Amino acid sequence: MLADSGESLANINAIFLTHEHGDHSAALKGLAKHPHIQVFANDPTRRSLQRSLKHQITWQIFETGTTFNFRDLEIRSFAVPHDAQEPVGFHISHGHGDLFSPRQSLAWVTDLGHVPAHIREHIRDADILVIEANYCLDLIDSDSKRPWSVKQRIKGRHGHLSNTAAHDLIAEIASPRWQHIYLAHLSRDCNSLDAVQAAFAPSVEALDCHISIVSPGGDTPFIKLS
Ligand SMILES: [Zn+2]
Ligand SMILES: [Zn+2]
Repeated sequence: MLADSGESLANINAIFLTHEHGDHSAALKGLAKHPHIQVFANDPTRRSLQRSLKHQITWQIFETGTTFNFRDLEIRSFAVPHDAQEPVGFHISHGHGDLFSPRQSLAWVTDLGHVPAHIREHIRDADILVIEANYCLDLIDSDSKRPWSVKQRIKGRHGHLSNTAAHDLIAEIASPRWQHIYLAHLSRDCNSLDAVQAAFAPSVEALDCHISIVSPGGDTPFIKLS
C-alpha cells in the first residue's frame, strides 16, 4: 500500500499506535527489519504487544492524556471508550499559526463505542477528521459469521461507532474548521460503501467540507462523497 502511494518504509520515521488489537498492530512483526522506526504507544499497549514479539521495538512511551512532540508535530493523546488495555485517539498538529506556517491539525478517532465530551472537543478542533463508520446496523444483525456475544461487543459502549452514530455526531458538531472528513475502519462483513453513503446522504450537502470513505478493500483507496 505504501509503494502504491509512492512511499516506502525507509521514509517512515514513526508509528503512533492507538491500541493493541491485531488490526492495528499485526504489522509490528515486520518492523524487525526497520529498526529506525520509532513506535509511540502508552505503556499498557506496549506491554501487551511486546510479549508476543521476538524482536525489541524502539518504543517511545507516552502517558495517556498528555501532549508530546515528534519533530515538528505536536501530538495530543486522549482516552477512547473501547475494549482494549488503554486505547487512545490522537490530535496531531503542526505549524506556528502565522502567515508563513499556518496551523494545521488532524484528529484520528477510530475504535470507540461512544463519544464523550472530551473527544468531541478534539474532533471539533481539527482541519482533517478521520473517524470510524464501522458497521451498518442491518448488516451486523443479519451477519451469520459472528456470534451474538461478538455483535453485542461491537455495538456496545466500548465497541465501535455505527454509520448512523458517526453521521449523527458529525451532523451535530458540524465544525466550521473541517476541510476533509475521512470515514474509516469500515467492517468488511458488516458494512458496505452503499450503506455508508446512504447513512451520510442527509448531511453531505449541508457540511461545507470534503467527505471521503476509506475503502476497506479493492483498488480504490478513497471514495469521494463530496
Ligand atoms: Zn480495536
Ligand atoms: Zn480496530
